[in-house]
Amino acid sequence: MKQTEKFEQAIDFIRKLYGDEPIPLHRPIFCGNEKSYLADCIDSNFVSSAGEQVCEFESKVASFTGARNAVAVVNGTNALQVALLLAGVRAQDEVITQALTFVATCNAISYVGADPVFIDVDKDTLGMSPAFLRNFLESHAVKKEGAVFNKSNGKRIKACLPMHTFGLPCRIQEISDVCHEWGIPLVEDAAESLGSFCGKRHTGTFGLLGAISFNGNKIITTGGGGMLLTDDDQLAKRAKHITTTAKIPHKYEFLHDEVGFNYRLPSLNAALGVAQMEQLHWMLEMKERIAGQYCEFFNSIGWQTVHPLKNCKSNNWLNAIVLGNQKERNAFLEYTNEKNIMTRPIWRLMSELEMFENCQNDGLKNSKWLEERVVNLPSSVPNGFNQLANE
Ligand SMILES: *Cc1c(COP(=O)(O)O)cnc(C)c1O
Repeated sequence: MKQTEKFEQAIDFIRKLYGDEPIPLHRPIFCGNEKSYLADCIDSNFVSSAGEQVCEFESKVASFTGARNAVAVVNGTNALQVALLLAGVRAQDEVITQALTFVATCNAISYVGADPVFIDVDKDTLGMSPAFLRNFLESHAVKKEGAVFNKSNGKRIKACLPMHTFGLPCRIQEISDVCHEWGIPLVEDAAESLGSFCGKRHTGTFGLLGAISFNGNKIITTGGGGMLLTDDDQLAKRAKHITTTAKIPHKYEFLHDEVGFNYRLPSLNAALGVAQMEQLHWMLEMKERIAGQYCEFFNSIGWQTVHPLKNCKSNNWLNAIVLGNQKERNAFLEYTNEKNIMTRPIWRLMSELEMFENCQNDGLKNSKWLEERVVNLPSSVPNGFNQLANE
């Protein structure tokens, strides 16, 4: 089959799923109690902080993920920033992460004054490779008096921050094992992976702390929002404290015991979050069906799709295909976007961005290979599918 013929078939297939209108990559779906909870929130007057919706949203996310604690914040990036701070990362430290990620992962590292170190990913999970992580530490790190130092510059390696790409879980248990051996705190960027599990455990709950995003393009949304996950009650308390201006509870006095942040999630957003959490189960089901249909179709025309590891479950946030080479990828992106079907290449590697180009990396062979080939496909729950929500 000729290339353009395959492209045409792909377009027909995507149009069959999503119709004739311009097709976005991912759109939010509000077909539950969103409007009524928002109205309740407005009627209560407590639209910003003191509303019940924040607690309810937190407890819903905690119970869904199995995390002992969930702390709502303004967005996923700030959730990561606070998670890194609580893990002990400070200015001049280093944080090990992947170059194949959205820029927010590295921005959060920069916000605390630390530098990222880039470890290559596995081709099958698109996430940090535990083998490359181990290799890097064995050849570049040394343990001294309980701390881990980078031999090449003497800086402390204070945390490891892998990411679950497009909801596909990385080899998080193995990464956790390596971190444990070295005594490096593990923080998970689970911004994209609400609803993704390894075994029975939810992504974002394997390390000391995890961060979820509820941005408008994520699997469910609060407009903007984020959530910190942790099993450590003390850390959860600290998270709540420093994200709410570090105010000491008092009837009328303004007492603050450190420089805190105003990162608390407004109740308005939390109200949306409560309604969206009620919808998550069926959305996950629908996304699994779409992913299955995509895989079946693309495999039938000989294109490679990505799949979760055997014991893992993806939330199928964004579907992805791996094209033959960069030229074919570019042609497919041109072809589809020209026809108002939004497809996107995977991110430019962080190691190629001006801000991070001088950061250490391990060669990033797989990351570079994937960067040239991976394309995201429209992945929303299609119109009409949401009728199933009420069945
Ligand atoms: C979306 C996202 C974030 C940041 O979340 P925001 O809520 O947009 O700040 C962080 N990391 C990754 C990998 C993301 O995809």
